[in-house]
Amino acid sequence: CQSAKGDVVYETFIKKIKELGLKNIKVNRSGCVGPCGLGPNVIIYPEEVFYCKVDQNGVDAILSEHIIKGNPVESYLYNKNKANVNFNDIAFYKKQLYIARNNFNMIDPESVEEYITIDGYLALFNTLTKMKPAEVIEEVKKSGLRGRGGAGFPTGTKWEFTASYKSDIKYVVCNADEGDPGAFMDRAIIEDSPHKLIEAMTIAGYAIGADRGIVYIRAEYPVAGRRLRNAIAQAKELGLLGKNIFGTAFSFDLDIKYGAGAFVCGEETSLINSIEGKRGEPRTKPPFPAEKGVFNYPTLINNVETYANIPQIIIKGANWFASIGKDKSKGTKVFSLTGKIVNSGLIELPMGTTIREIIYDIGGGIPNGKKFKAVQIGGPSGGCLPASLIDTPVTYEDLIQHGAMMGSGGMIVLDEDTNMVEMTRFFLDFTCDESCGKCTPCRIGNKRLLEILDKILEGKGEMSDLDELETLSTYIKQNSLCGLGQTSPNPVLSTLQHFRNEYVELIEGKK
Ligand code: SF4
Repeated sequence: CQSAKGDVVYETFIKKIKELGLKNIKVNRSGCVGPCGLGPNVIIYPEEVFYCKVDQNGVDAILSEHIIKGNPVESYLYNKNKANVNFNDIAFYKKQLYIARNNFNMIDPESVEEYITIDGYLALFNTLTKMKPAEVIEEVKKSGLRGRGGAGFPTGTKWEFTASYKSDIKYVVCNADEGDPGAFMDRAIIEDSPHKLIEAMTIAGYAIGADRGIVYIRAEYPVAGRRLRNAIAQAKELGLLGKNIFGTAFSFDLDIKYGAGAFVCGEETSLINSIEGKRGEPRTKPPFPAEKGVFNYPTLINNVETYANIPQIIIKGANWFASIGKDKSKGTKVFSLTGKIVNSGLIELPMGTTIREIIYDIGGGIPNGKKFKAVQIGGPSGGCLPASLIDTPVTYEDLIQHGAMMGSGGMIVLDEDTNMVEMTRFFLDFTCDESCGKCTPCRIGNKRLLEILDKILEGKGEMSDLDELETLSTYIKQNSLCGLGQTSPNPVLSTLQHFRNEYVELIEGKK
């Protein structure tokens, strides 16, 4: 809630509590609590009363009415409804389940002591003192956890591959280069709980036989970067990073590298090049990073959310994790819910939750009574699902079956007024800007797609353009070097599949 002056609210609470001489009250900053448009949020514990849009007057009212007299302050309550005072009673939170973000509203993200009080570093302790590396990998495999960065590759299998390559030096890398428009899940996880990332990467290092790790984070995330630096320093001071952790023979150290904000650096081999100080362009695969990654050493790369699931899997067990979700999509997924939706914000849901539940139960529906038209899932690499597919469960398989994909978790809701061709152009324009230019299908092909879309939007399109869009999209997907190009035509293809009539109307001059 920093952009909504959350810092001022925090400082004011501290100042006023001191002035009023109130004892036994602790004011904590927390991670992002979710609903974007309702900040700054304040939760009063132990009752968990949830306040929204708290300003300086709100601080006065909460202290004088709630803290001193015990009466919730209606004007700052969610829904202004006294029946809905508790955090967990609010519709936005009811269907959510927290694994990756399990402590976002409980502890001060800048305090290692508070992290430890909620079993922080217990998973690392159990791993180092009670498990063999192969057992850790087996547990992650058994959990069914899949990469949350986009492709959904089984995490345990990736760990196993990297462990299988023998080398004195290996790296554990965290991809925190979240670049999709409208996506802010990973930033929030690091801001909530930087120690969780450190703990998970250290566990991964033990499992694959690595003694060093790198978090590659975009420089546009100053709070996340600062909290991570602070957490690394605290962990080193307490011996939770460094030599002989918990008195064992295992040593692990962690470093941070800042990315300059190129979307393509979210692709793992570009990220590796960037870490090495080279231009952020993808490498040809194979060899895969598990064999030859950072400086040609075996390297394990997972994104922030994937790592954030690990401590809970170790503490609660693979079977517990695997019992959540649907089919081959286990656990939860964090989404940033944005666009034409009443409650925009950050949400974490069990896999298999339907689009309808997300839009209406959690998101509160479409503003101004408009109709829901579609949802773009997975950012510029994803696709859109129309209203007719509103009961689709959100799983890797169900989304792919309908021409969309999980991606990293961006979810942009579109209402009846959205021009789907313009929306497609927006994402393609982004892709053209972000294409590194190394291979022709992506560099030139996407530009041609954009030109055709412009032609259609200017009312100069022909019906043959639609075939051209399809053929060219398929060619780009099949022949591009990296994931950026291989997925960039997805918005074109999915809107042609579900909203072809809008292209035709523009071509026929009816729109
Ligand atoms: Fe670069 Fe695009 Fe080719 Fe990837 S697909 S290497 S981003 S030009």
